Amino acid sequence: QAELQQQEEIIFRSKLPDIYIPKHLPLHTYCFQNLPAVASKPCLINGTTGKVYTYEEVELTARRVASGLNKLGIQQREVIMLLLPNTPEFVLSFLGASFRGAVATAANPFFTPAEIVKQAKASDAKLIITLASYVDKVKEFAQDNDVKIMCIDSAPDGCLHFSELTQADESDLPDIEFEPDDVVALPYSSGTTGLPKGVMLTHKGLVTSVAQQVDGENPNLYFHSDDVILCTLPMFHIYALNSIMLCGLRVGAAILIMQKFEIGLLLELIQKYKVTIAPLVPPIVLAIAKSSETDKYDLSSVRMVKSGAAPLGQELEDAVKVKFPGAKCGQGYGMTEAGPVLAMGLGFAKQPFPIKSGACGTVVRNAEMKIIDPDTGLSLPRNQAGEICIRGDQIMKGYLNDPEATARTIDKDGWLHTGDIGYIDDDDELFIVDRLKELIKYKGFQVAPAELEAMLIGHPDIVDAAVVAMKDEAAGEVPVAFVVRSEKSQISEDEIKQYISKQVVFYKRINRVFFIETIPKAPSGKILRKELRAKLATGNH
Ligand code: AMP
Repeated sequence: QAELQQQEEIIFRSKLPDIYIPKHLPLHTYCFQNLPAVASKPCLINGTTGKVYTYEEVELTARRVASGLNKLGIQQREVIMLLLPNTPEFVLSFLGASFRGAVATAANPFFTPAEIVKQAKASDAKLIITLASYVDKVKEFAQDNDVKIMCIDSAPDGCLHFSELTQADESDLPDIEFEPDDVVALPYSSGTTGLPKGVMLTHKGLVTSVAQQVDGENPNLYFHSDDVILCTLPMFHIYALNSIMLCGLRVGAAILIMQKFEIGLLLELIQKYKVTIAPLVPPIVLAIAKSSETDKYDLSSVRMVKSGAAPLGQELEDAVKVKFPGAKCGQGYGMTEAGPVLAMGLGFAKQPFPIKSGACGTVVRNAEMKIIDPDTGLSLPRNQAGEICIRGDQIMKGYLNDPEATARTIDKDGWLHTGDIGYIDDDDELFIVDRLKELIKYKGFQVAPAELEAMLIGHPDIVDAAVVAMKDEAAGEVPVAFVVRSEKSQISEDEIKQYISKQVVFYKRINRVFFIETIPKAPSGKILRKELRAKLATGNH
């Protein structure tokens, strides 16, 4: 029976043929494979200062950083934490860790101290690279746990300065034996359920993912070496780390780094540096679409606007097309655990396929996708919506120290279950229509309901709680809480909101609190989130 089902599986593949992928190479070797051809070209442009770093400089400095990490005592497979906004030093630290054979875990610098410490502890980070202004967030933890702090701007008391790494002698770096399955990046994601977990992305996985986007027969599929790629999305998220930074390096493009998103500055930088590729997320697309400033700038250099990380509505897609008349606009679909890119538009293939409005493109090359019935697990034919699953070398190795969560996400046949609902149409285009998993996405940022629920239940006045997504025009989704108060409690909505606000980064703040008698649950104890979402939709809360 099982065999029969196996045979009958309906599997979707890219419309383009598979490519050769040098999966044996360490990530940094792969990224700089074409170095001689691009050595003197701009690699990183600091949008704040205008400073340009050539490919040669970036590669050399990254090796020095690796040597410096080694000198500091960072061993192969040990973790360093990047607590940084978008800066050239972020890129240099990431690549330095890769050259050292170490692992980089990046955290949002806007996180509260508790959120940062959780990740630093869970990942067993030995060094935190940050800005002087964030040192207070991690000082106590670092002291108590023998973790070093290093700043890229200045060196407050007790901290190291980044120059210790960049001034190290690259020839001191020992030879390192890399295994393709060695972890190189450790982003945190809650996946389909539960708390944020370390997502182990390997050298092989990231090489495969980057190659799927930019290598092979269709060299112009996404980027090429003449491109100037805007990097305003945060590098601590895998979308920018992989699809901007690593893909940009691989093709030898210039990466324009914006430390902070600000619409006027963004438009100015596009004009000044003749940006050709603009990877965005829906809230930034919205800001551009609504901006009255766009007419003042020449945005004609942009040839591609790509949105990802959250759904892009058709109206918004149409509105942004007006602002960039010369550009192709499309969506990509990613998930941290998937490496992250699952699907992308083929509007730039040698023989381009039209980009369909609302579609996320087609499954990447050298990968398999199937759509399954969430109840039966059986694969579904075209035009039927079900859970999107993906298989290929690009997906994560697993969650750090969490074999159970890994087994819930990647099944025994190697399929990664995304928790997203979608279908594939007659032209192999993927459309995402719903989300099965708990995850809430605020402007593309992850909010894990389980994290907020644990905090709520930790309050003495709260007996039970559930957090779900509510639609929001500006943010896409915001977290709202259903709360069961303890018997005599009079705790108010505002008090609960403040209690949470103190503990979390701004986008995890609870937007509304609804008091309720009991939280609907299945006999297994699982929260029936669908029922709560239905209450929100009908206004019956
Ligand atoms: P993250 O791991 O933070 O990248 O979040 C991944 C999740 O974001 C996916 O599993 C989807 O739920 C959502 N997502 C990413 N890209 C898209 C897209 N183009 N359309 C709709 N949802 C998306």
